Amino acid sequence: MKKTIKNTHWDILIIGGGATGIGAAIDAASRGYKTLLVERDDYGKGTSSKSTKLIHGGVRYLQQGNFSLVLEALKERAILKRNAPHIVHDLKFVVPTYDWWESPFYGIGLKLYDWLAGKEGFGDSEFLSKEETVKYIPTVSQEGLRGGVIYHDGQFDDTRLLVNMMQTAKEQGAIILNYTEFLEFTKNDQNVICGAVIQDVFSKEKTKIKTKSIINATGVFSDSIRQKDEPSLQRIISSSQGVHIVLDKEFLPGNTAIMIPDTEDGRVLFAVPWHDKILIGTTDTPVSEYSSEPLPKKDEINFLLTHAAKYLTMTPTKKDVRSIFVGLRPLVKNGNAENTAEISREHVIEISKSGLISIAGGKWTTYRKMAEDVIDKATMVALIPFVKSETEFLNIHGYCTPNAQQNLLAIYGTDAKNIEELTENNPELAVQIHPDYPFIKAQIIWAAQQEDAKTIEDVLARRIRFLFLDAKASIDSCELVANLLAGELGKDKDWIQKQITDYTVLAKQYIL
Ligand SMILES: Cc1cc2nc3c(=O)[nH]c(=O)nc-3n(C[C@H](O)[C@H](O)[C@H](O)COP(=O)(O)OP(=O)(O)OC[C@H]3O[C@@H](n4cnc5c(N)ncnc54)[C@H](O)[C@@H]3O)c2cc1C
Repeated sequence: MKKTIKNTHWDILIIGGGATGIGAAIDAASRGYKTLLVERDDYGKGTSSKSTKLIHGGVRYLQQGNFSLVLEALKERAILKRNAPHIVHDLKFVVPTYDWWESPFYGIGLKLYDWLAGKEGFGDSEFLSKEETVKYIPTVSQEGLRGGVIYHDGQFDDTRLLVNMMQTAKEQGAIILNYTEFLEFTKNDQNVICGAVIQDVFSKEKTKIKTKSIINATGVFSDSIRQKDEPSLQRIISSSQGVHIVLDKEFLPGNTAIMIPDTEDGRVLFAVPWHDKILIGTTDTPVSEYSSEPLPKKDEINFLLTHAAKYLTMTPTKKDVRSIFVGLRPLVKNGNAENTAEISREHVIEISKSGLISIAGGKWTTYRKMAEDVIDKATMVALIPFVKSETEFLNIHGYCTPNAQQNLLAIYGTDAKNIEELTENNPELAVQIHPDYPFIKAQIIWAAQQEDAKTIEDVLARRIRFLFLDAKASIDSCELVANLLAGELGKDKDWIQKQITDYTVLAKQYIL
């Protein structure tokens, strides 16, 4: 493998294994281009694992009058549900209304949302009486409640889709490497980029590669890569962080989400059922320092707890929070915006004098269109023959029509039967890794064998989401997971011990 990487003259090198980078790798490889992607950590370690888990047009952008963004996202929503039906599904959202003007106001807005989605809509919005609202959301605060509006949008598991996207990219012929860092560019006599130095994060081995183009898809880290190309470049990223808290299902039983369109700081707040828990988020706090594991601020936690209490009959406290996670929005600066909530979510593509292609902004929902746009540009920089993107009709790995019986493994799509087969061959692998949660040992083996998982964190955070669902309980399972992984990856006792220590330190950041 190492020889191939070194000896191939790549058409496109992609830096960053989030939704943007892996989406671009699928697009490039499926057009037949020689594609290499490097991610310095695990796939989705950055923002792409910390979203609200919605595949949506964005009702908020409608409020801002950004119809083109909503239209594009609604189109992508339909494409994604068609290409990855095992992961993306329809979810009902209720907007509870407490003022006389709210039902007509939001109701008309949501009718417009339905209309923009056209025949690809997930279902029609409807006005609800007070009784109907309570039927959908039994724990909604009834003090002053007048009624509500119900509408439909998409929901998914962000890193489960990302892992399946990584597998799709590989199936299309791309080489995708996690734990491989981009270090520096190499340039020719005309100062044009012609290669890069990448490094295996574990062995520290460096490899010099040749490539006709490089795409910088590093999210909030984009400026650091741009400045490696040209140190005098102005920064373009202006990030804000968004916090989610995770509560037990009793706070919002049933399968309907709540959407609050306008909080005091002008944000949309969601309470969304997800993997038998409730996600509440998010905030929008400008930040100037970027990390892969940003920390929540006290006032963000208070904001989420107070607002959850305002709209729910039960008042959540800090001890009810099973996990808290924080993501950084890779927003591209816009001169007129007064706060980060107003910065457009549209994506921006920039090509530097030496040919570095940087793509930032956008949303998880629109990753496919972003990929198509950036690979169109890359063909011009790389001077390779133009081939039209076909990803609109490309199924994502695991594709299958979901059946009504949703079980633990359904989200794996066609891979579910392979995981079941592991348990049939070795019944010990059907044993749960924690008495209170359904995850089984076979999922860990599968993650190591087929999904490039290399650490406890890769498994518990991004292959089965235990860290995001109950951080404290996930620590109880980490020794068992470390032992299973060590068996698969050929690691020794010292490795196991270090893995447990590292994971425990990280998981504590997800506990309040
Ligand atoms: C709180 C929050 C909620 C959101 N909710 C939604 C939602 O519900 N729906 C939706 O559509 N969108 C949502 N978004 C937006 C969406 O999550 C992001 O637009 C998307 O995940 C960005 O992906 P990315 O690949 O550009 O960045 P990232 O996922 O951050 O990926 C960049 C990657 O680059 C890697 N990297 C950096 N430097 C290097 C290097 N030198 N070498 C190799 N790799 C490197 C990083 O490790 C990282 O993994 C949300 C965003 C936030 C913050």
